[in-house]
Amino acid sequence: MMTSFEHDVADSLGAHRALFFQSNDVAAYLDGNSLGRPLGASVERIARFVTEQWGSRLIRGWDEQWLSLPETVGDELGRVALGAAAGQVIFADSTTVLLYKLIRAACEFNPERTEIVIDRANFPTDRYVVEGIVAERGLSVVWIDAGKTERDGSDGDPDDAFGVTPAQVQAALTDRTALVVLSHVAFRSGFLADVPAITALVHDAGALVLWDLSHSVGVVPTELDAWGVDLATGCSYKYLCGGPGAPAFAYVRLELQAQLRQPIQGWLGTRAPFEMGQGYTPADGIRSFASGTPPITGMLALQDMIALIGEVGIMAIREKSVALTEHAIALSDELLPDAVLSTPRAAHRRGSHITLDREGFAELVPKLWAQGVIPDFRGPTGIRIGLSPLSTSFTEVELGILAIRYPGE
Ligand SMILES: *Cc1c(COP(=O)(O)O)cnc(C)c1O
Repeated sequence: MMTSFEHDVADSLGAHRALFFQSNDVAAYLDGNSLGRPLGASVERIARFVTEQWGSRLIRGWDEQWLSLPETVGDELGRVALGAAAGQVIFADSTTVLLYKLIRAACEFNPERTEIVIDRANFPTDRYVVEGIVAERGLSVVWIDAGKTERDGSDGDPDDAFGVTPAQVQAALTDRTALVVLSHVAFRSGFLADVPAITALVHDAGALVLWDLSHSVGVVPTELDAWGVDLATGCSYKYLCGGPGAPAFAYVRLELQAQLRQPIQGWLGTRAPFEMGQGYTPADGIRSFASGTPPITGMLALQDMIALIGEVGIMAIREKSVALTEHAIALSDELLPDAVLSTPRAAHRRGSHITLDREGFAELVPKLWAQGVIPDFRGPTGIRIGLSPLSTSFTEVELGILAIRYPGE
């Protein structure tokens, strides 16, 4: 096994770490999948925005550039990280609100179909939004229990235990399925779903699919157009380093845009907002998925990360991400033999974080935080180690695992 130092020396992306703001009291940041570190460029961009744009252009800023920012930055994200041609991605709202808008739109598209399929291990907000819409519209939920592999005829691959497989989706689909809502990378286990295979199955059943990319965007290469994905959404404060509360993005496949109607009819999703006329007339294209005033100040930092992803290339980022998770697994096998790896061992079946389960981690994590070692805790017994490739070193991973192995008092 290569040492952490040897990995860092050989790492062609290692120099990019210095582009991120470094804080003195953090020894190992292992939670970039929950809140990415800021780029140094963002410190400057935000300061300049206040004085040069907001402070100087004032209301003129809207016409000059801000109004179109949700789509221009969306196009750029689509190009560098999503495999999405222009005109299909827009920044707006939070992931939660965009989930609501997209799921409602998808259900109304197929009004004779009454079931939404989702898995029980999906992120809470995704499940809660689905449950709310089902209650509101008189529909029903079809639950997939990720990890229950016995009853679906799978071949017993142990990695299947950590997420939703195509066979499980197939078993859940009926001619009543309106929509399937799944995460590309599972927030707890890190399981990487087979998006093209599942998307094809859903389409064969005559339903639509919505992929939540919160834990994959910016770190796992995605080909939304080529895979035929209908709808997608995701956060920008995780691997996209947009900062706390930065807005989410929505992807709506071009052919669907004119047919889907989202439920939050606001003036900035209309054809001519400044005519301020009577009655709602949706804009053409992806703009109709906007509702109110776009969150311009929340879209500053993420522009720097999208530019950096474009420069480095999403494939190179994925390569380092795999090397980091491999390293974390090798070190935990060696140093934490009594912890259970709750993440697929096969690299092509996981995203950029791993979860280890062991009794006592709930009490350990606050102690680690106090020492400047920052993983996340995911109940009931999990430590989640997130590895944001451009801001994390191999040595940092080792420091983190050593701190778990030898906790100080
Ligand atoms: C982080 C995350 C969210 C967060 O949604 P917000 O509305 O930004 O709070 C939603 N879904 C998934 C899968 C996530 O990982």
